[in-house]
Amino acid sequence: MSSPTADFFDQGALVGVLTTQPLDRLLDYKAPEGGCQIGAFVEVPLGPRKVVGVVWGPGQGDFDINKVRSVIRVLDVVPMREEMQIFLRRAADYTLTPMTAMLRLATRAPGLGDPPSMRKVFRLGHGSPDRITDARLRVMDVLEGNGDTLFTLKELSEEAGVSSSVIKGLVKQGVVAEEDTPRDLPFRRLDPDHAGKALTEDQADCADALCAALRTGDYGTTLLRGVTGSGKTEVYLEAVAEALRQGRQALVLLPEIALSAEFLSRVEARFGARAAEWHSGVTMTERRRIWKMVGQGGAQLVVGARSALFLPFRDLGLIVVDEEHDTSYKQEDGVMYNARDMAVLRASICGAQVILASATPSLESWSNAEAGKYKRLDLEARFGAAVMPEIRCIDMRAETLPGDRWISPSLQAAIKTRLALGEQSLLFLNRRGYAPVTLCRACGNQIGCDQCDARMVEHRFLKRLMCHQCGETKPMPEACPSCAAEGRLAAVGPGVERMGEEAATLFPEARIATLSSDMFGSARALKEQIGKIAEGGADIIIGTQLVAKGHNFPLLTLVGVIDADLGLQGSDLRAAERTFQLMRQVAGRAGRAEKPGTALLQTFQPEHPVIRAILSGDEEGFWRAEAAGREAAGVPPFGRMAGIILSSPELQDAFDLGNTLANNDGPLRQIGAQVYGPAPAPIARIRGRHRVRLLVKAPKGAPLQGAVARWVKSVRAPNTLRLSVDIDPQSF
Ligand code: ADP
Ligand code: ZN
Repeated sequence: MSSPTADFFDQGALVGVLTTQPLDRLLDYKAPEGGCQIGAFVEVPLGPRKVVGVVWGPGQGDFDINKVRSVIRVLDVVPMREEMQIFLRRAADYTLTPMTAMLRLATRAPGLGDPPSMRKVFRLGHGSPDRITDARLRVMDVLEGNGDTLFTLKELSEEAGVSSSVIKGLVKQGVVAEEDTPRDLPFRRLDPDHAGKALTEDQADCADALCAALRTGDYGTTLLRGVTGSGKTEVYLEAVAEALRQGRQALVLLPEIALSAEFLSRVEARFGARAAEWHSGVTMTERRRIWKMVGQGGAQLVVGARSALFLPFRDLGLIVVDEEHDTSYKQEDGVMYNARDMAVLRASICGAQVILASATPSLESWSNAEAGKYKRLDLEARFGAAVMPEIRCIDMRAETLPGDRWISPSLQAAIKTRLALGEQSLLFLNRRGYAPVTLCRACGNQIGCDQCDARMVEHRFLKRLMCHQCGETKPMPEACPSCAAEGRLAAVGPGVERMGEEAATLFPEARIATLSSDMFGSARALKEQIGKIAEGGADIIIGTQLVAKGHNFPLLTLVGVIDADLGLQGSDLRAAERTFQLMRQVAGRAGRAEKPGTALLQTFQPEHPVIRAILSGDEEGFWRAEAAGREAAGVPPFGRMAGIILSSPELQDAFDLGNTLANNDGPLRQIGAQVYGPAPAPIARIRGRHRVRLLVKAPKGAPLQGAVARWVKSVRAPNTLRLSVDIDPQSF
């Protein structure tokens, strides 16, 4: 019965289908009429339901052949390429994720299984109308005036100012043609030579090196390091152009894609057409279109969030990971993967180049470059007249400030100077909301989340208390929920909203804009606000992490960091690296045009090594010291780690299983690994589930995944308990 070639199955042949259902094996089916090829997306019956899957290989034949059902139909999309199958397999092995969950990543986005809810689109047809009315004329005008543009029913009726029945009438007579498939619409061709900038000598050297690497047609990774504003984007867009010239596709990953309006228009200006934009804010219809077009080669360039890595590229030649150090590349729930590392894996399978771009690389990438695994290119100077900001600290021990004020006299003076010059100041505080703690002055109670081990944060803008772990909100109570005292609740500590208030008191004449992700109903509103600020629509900008990344504010010459010590608290071994990166990113916002910038860091510990490294700008020195510390501790990138998170409604259950695991660490000892814990996880309770963590530390070359897999399989977890494995955890 089986077919003569290994990758095509004739009707009735047994095929093994990988579905997205949580089963740990392939399911056997009979190939449908007309047969099917390996990699084909198919719809198969599963119990009473129909599910989508991929023909993964020949069937195993260990089911009763008479009970094996047939594939219902082969879906009309490009079959999964072998290289994608390999990628999913290797990514699954690396992250210890079931294949079915990996397949969900590769198919979830287009909603392949859903009935294709295609919208109709309209354009001018060839028929002529039986009679002419004003309304009909308007429809025809709109369609004639817009060339090949396709309209949805709603768009067309709005544009022409007619009801949809007018359009439907015209469709009947063939005057307007109705089509099905916006998702088959290819993207406009990008022109690699549309509008390249004249690069500086340094930039051109970097671009040449990247293009030469691309021309090898082989895999390779390059760390492109350069201060903010040095032209890294300019440089890697030249590499994108080279990939396009070769007829290959390119993917640019960005951390906060929702904020990339500026970036997308830059790409459009460079290549004369828009890139495909991929992230959670993109409509389902558009995602289907992109998914399909990427597979057919009709989308040459995708700019996207981490999940874009799982798109079915036809011939991917280049992956750029911009701001490669950004922690949001690590997906922390579901499949726990780091998009930066998966980009390298994917590229090594399909013979693509990877560019990791950053002003402040991760220690991982820095040491991979040191070890010669990655090439490294440096851009030292800022482009044009822009110079690096001067970074100084304000020793808060020497400042006189009332207890509930945070803008020191020194910082106030600096802001005042900028206001007089008509320049912008940015006050940075990485804390959303009004105040991190709401304290009852009568009983000392701090209002906490009912579901999590976290304090509720007051958001005055929303007039609610919010848990930043689970997102739960409740109205601000009048009385203390614990002792019922009225009027004794006090906001303790600063959040950005409160800083806005303080700035308004200090500078009543200034225009103040507070930027925090929760203050905008939509990414669009936020983009608009950022655009207005860039054009000079505010004098003082107050923001969280959101403003540390990627926006160009040409008039901004002063950055004030309200609490430079914030990230240094806690025991996380990555805290130093994070703070160093964040402070440098924020400082880099100042002085991006002709005017020089200054960054002022408010700190209570100016002699802290991390603060000192930030002030001196001795980046290599910082990395070397940081690397030495991690090497001594045997932690990444000089050792390997895995986190095991056990979560349960009952804390004791989680601890019990944690202890059982810790006491049965045979498989780990075999590879020279050690286990630490169980201890409360960094997020100790969320949405009513307690979380306990074990940390595994292994020597660098050790086969960690295999050992961890054997280890966790050796215990039985109660049904209410969830166990998840996090390879390369972010915090340790
Ligand atoms: P980075 O990505 O390193 O932060 P960018 O590529 O965004 O730097 O460059 C910073 C600014 O300088 C941008 O506005 C960019 O358009 C401009 N720029 C950089 N290089 C050039 C160049 N060679 N010609 C013209 N403008 C440039
Ligand atoms: Zn909560």
